[in-house]
Amino acid sequence: MKLDSKIPAGPLADKWNNHKAKLRLVNPANRRKYHVIVVGSGLAGSAAAASFAEMGYEVSCFCYQDSPRRAHSIAAQGGINAAKNYQNDGDSVRRLFQDTIKGGDYRAREANVYRLAQVSVNIIDQCVAQGVPFAREYGGLLANRSFGGAQVSRTFYARGQTGQQLLIGAYSALSRQIGLGTVRMHTRHEMLDLVLVDGKAKGIVTRDLVTGAVESWAADVVVLCTGGYGNVFYLSTNAQGCNVTATYRAHRRGAGFANPCYTQIHPTCIPVHGEDQAKLTLMSESLRNDGRVWVPKNAADCAKPAAEIPEDARDYFLERKYPSYGNLAPRDIASRAAKEVCDEGRGVGQRVDGKRLGVYLDFSAAIRRLGEAEIRARYGNLFDMYENITGENAYQQPMRIFPAVHYTMGGLWVDYNLQSNVPGLFVGGEANFSDHGANRLGASALMQGLADGYFVLPYVVTDYLAGEKPGSRPSPDAPDSRPPSRRSTTASPGSSRSTARSRLAPTTRPSARSPGRSAAWPATRPASKARSATCRRSARTSGRT
Ligand SMILES: Cc1cc2nc3c(=O)[nH]c(=O)nc-3n(C[C@H](O)[C@H](O)[C@H](O)COP(=O)(O)OP(=O)(O)OC[C@H]3O[C@@H](n4cnc5c(N)ncnc54)[C@H](O)[C@@H]3O)c2cc1C
Repeated sequence: MKLDSKIPAGPLADKWNNHKAKLRLVNPANRRKYHVIVVGSGLAGSAAAASFAEMGYEVSCFCYQDSPRRAHSIAAQGGINAAKNYQNDGDSVRRLFQDTIKGGDYRAREANVYRLAQVSVNIIDQCVAQGVPFAREYGGLLANRSFGGAQVSRTFYARGQTGQQLLIGAYSALSRQIGLGTVRMHTRHEMLDLVLVDGKAKGIVTRDLVTGAVESWAADVVVLCTGGYGNVFYLSTNAQGCNVTATYRAHRRGAGFANPCYTQIHPTCIPVHGEDQAKLTLMSESLRNDGRVWVPKNAADCAKPAAEIPEDARDYFLERKYPSYGNLAPRDIASRAAKEVCDEGRGVGQRVDGKRLGVYLDFSAAIRRLGEAEIRARYGNLFDMYENITGENAYQQPMRIFPAVHYTMGGLWVDYNLQSNVPGLFVGGEANFSDHGANRLGASALMQGLADGYFVLPYVVTDYLAGEKPGSRPSPDAPDSRPPSRRSTTASPGSSRSTARSRLAPTTRPSARSPGRSAAWPATRPASKARSATCRRSARTSGRT
């Protein structure tokens, strides 16, 4: 496999602007002739689909949940980074770039990361314009807090539900386009395969999770924004649906997978409390702004309640080992340090499999300094969540936390244009590998997903489409678009296709559409929006089985 990262020449700070100026354009009248498939409607996918549609492309967007609002992005708690320097504490695009590169153990692609830092400032403006309710200071300015691996405060947040609020913003933009008829949203559809024609990505095969129908969809370009693969580990903080099916299927079609071993272990999760758990719960990194991490100095104290361990018998091991970052040391470093003290036998909490795997995250000093009301205002929903799960009140006793699998830095390999090694297959958000090296800093995944979706993919996909003849995509009846399981039975393309289709076609589905009409677009679509047939359900809906 020959990999060319296509990093533009010139100084880091100028690469993206110079590159953008050279990218080819598609004139507005021609954009509607191109059909873009976006798989995934989390932050990256919703942002990309809405942006493509706003530009005038014909877009189909797929997700397996019952609504784009259910994407795993909704789980993000702590915040999103941007180099706005609202705190006047020395932040800059350069500093965000440096922190991200250093935090990623110098394994990330510098050109991509610099671009990410540059567009981070636009993301906040975009989201504020959408009405995302970021936390504000008393005077009305947007508030910031600190996150791991940074010595400035650059994290924008909406209490402990930043991902949800950002997703509502992106979903609103997507819904607007769905309402206008420019995005056709296919919920409850799982991507089963990537369709290649002459080596280029030209469509996908899906299964309708409600009817079971297997269908093929043709397009001029395919964009995967299908999230990470943390659930390859038995326990993680990810939703059970984060199952890597889409990227794996693209990989089977030849898309390279990069850095699969780079998995983030997050230091602040609720410890495993039994043998029958299927999932772990994250306590946001933002809690380390005010919480102090400690364990007893002596293993003999580990079984005692925290309140009975005097101050001089406590080891604030992150503050001791990493004085410049303290409790906000990067995630990999903080996780390793927590595991080390537990391996020394100084962990706290109940024993699971004979070991105490937990360290304290203690808010008593912050409550004394700021008052409980202020801590409640900053983290109230996280404290409630902790109490719901553990039955412990973290205003009165320290939380217990332990590292857990959280994020996957690896993903499908992409070049600077977010294009995989398969031409016409673009990858955004957590599904690609490009921006976080060996370790992602907190609050940088939301930044990357939205950067890719709103500010990078619209440019680079346009450049690709400018080289594709409008309307040249294959018919969804082309042999390659059939599900692989059906392909081997082919005696002659026409006959076996029909057989496959007739076997796959659900018999109960009503056929309200006329044979000549593109069934992919709703029957109620306004006449002014009518477009040429582009992506079409297989023969069962066109009446040609
Ligand atoms: C508990 C938790 C808290 C977090 N907190 C933060 C935080 O505070 N700040 C931060 O920056 N990051 C945070 N992250 C990370 C961040 O939330 C994710 O990396 C990011 O939201 C991923 O967005 P995405 O759009 O790439 O993917 P997702 O939001 O995971 O969306 C994936 C989409 O792909 C679709 N999909 C997947 N496979 C298929 C398939 N085969 N067929 C059809 N559709 C498919 C899904 O339906 C979904 O719509 C957190 C992560 C977790 C687990």
